[in-house]
Amino acid sequence: RDMRKYSGIVEDCCCDYETVDRLNEEVLHPSLQELVKTPFFRYFKVKLWCDCPFWPDDGMCRLRDCSVCECPDHEFPESFKNSYQGLSSEDLVCQEGKPQAAVDRTLDSKAFRGWTVTDNPWTNDDETDNDEMTYVNLQLNPERYTGYTGPSARRIWDAIYSENCPKYPSEELCQEERILYKLISGLHSSISIHIAADYLLDEATNSWGRNISLLHDRVLRYPDRIRNLYFTYLFVLRAVTKAADYLEYAEYDTGNPVEDLKTQSLMKQLLYNPNLQAACPLPFDEAKLWKGQSGPELKQKIQKQFRNISALMDCVGCEKCRLWGKLQVLGLGTALKILFSVDGHEKLGQNLQLQRNEVIALVNLLNRLSESVKLVHDMGQSAEMTMEGQ
Ligand code: FAD
Repeated sequence: RDMRKYSGIVEDCCCDYETVDRLNEEVLHPSLQELVKTPFFRYFKVKLWCDCPFWPDDGMCRLRDCSVCECPDHEFPESFKNSYQGLSSEDLVCQEGKPQAAVDRTLDSKAFRGWTVTDNPWTNDDETDNDEMTYVNLQLNPERYTGYTGPSARRIWDAIYSENCPKYPSEELCQEERILYKLISGLHSSISIHIAADYLLDEATNSWGRNISLLHDRVLRYPDRIRNLYFTYLFVLRAVTKAADYLEYAEYDTGNPVEDLKTQSLMKQLLYNPNLQAACPLPFDEAKLWKGQSGPELKQKIQKQFRNISALMDCVGCEKCRLWGKLQVLGLGTALKILFSVDGHEKLGQNLQLQRNEVIALVNLLNRLSESVKLVHDMGQSAEMTMEGQ
């Protein structure tokens, strides 16, 4: 990695690249790696059924361990782009009264008031339990190369960028729209980095390893993709630390008291790390956003675009990619919900309600981004050596 390209403050953030690398290496990456292995964080609830109403299936996933979904034979409907018009915020709220919404009041002294089933206005999925939902052990399903490529994968990225989040730089984009673009691009970089980090090098012998030239071709030679990765990492990190009061007292109950206590203490270590607080107390400053006169309309517009991106995850034609796509988009949606539920730096207090699955997605997303930042740092150096040697 050419350090000259990545010195100074991460654009739109409040910390510099070197600090992010150091904090990630010493503090964040080790504790996140532990945290995602705990029973609470390793099971993700997801509807893996492919519900894509937009495109016909074209059988694109070629590896055996990555089942292909049979998408219905429809065309991309016009109505999709407008599917959320006319939906009032009342239509998006809670479904209280369900058993799983039962609130445990024993920890009520702080912000956490029990897991809720309140819908996330930033995402498309209905997270309520139903027959189509399955729990997936994330530890058994690492994000890596699956062989999913070609027109199917391409049209999803194209739809995301062109329909929902126009490319910047463009004079017409305001800061908030640029941020949506950077979040998606940063996530895209992270997915590509995980593909390169765990690649099927030889199908005949089933040997897996790092593919440095792929990493270089898809990420390292584009400085903006790396910058967007760091930005996304800091954005999600800010969401996690902003929700510290809530996350500290949330109920990490999986029926295994020893493990659950460990989860809680790892969480505290992450939230209140003195090194993090000293070196990068405000990774991203959300108080700067939505300030203009059109703030509320802009927020609704961007929320709708993000929901469309969330809906597109149902069209990802490879089950494992869909799993991680859905998880990470839900994680980003949760970060957006946390950062923009209240104005500025106000305490979240009683305003925040999260679902268990949202917290699982948020922390696993942060871990993925942290892995990517570390991989860019580590592999970037070997990629440079490889390129120099050629
Ligand atoms: P793509 O990665 O498909 O990129 C398409 C175009 O987007 C590029 O040509 C470029 O113009 C632009 N672009 C690329 N990166 C960025 C960036 N960071 N910022 C801005 N623009 C960019 N494959 C797997 O093997 N494993 C997975 O787990 C996996 N998960 C996926 C999840 C989702 C949600 C999607 C949509 C795809 C997933 N894929 C996965 C497929 C993978 O992302 C690629 O699409 C595929 O490997 C083909 O890559 P490509 O070189 O054609 O470029």
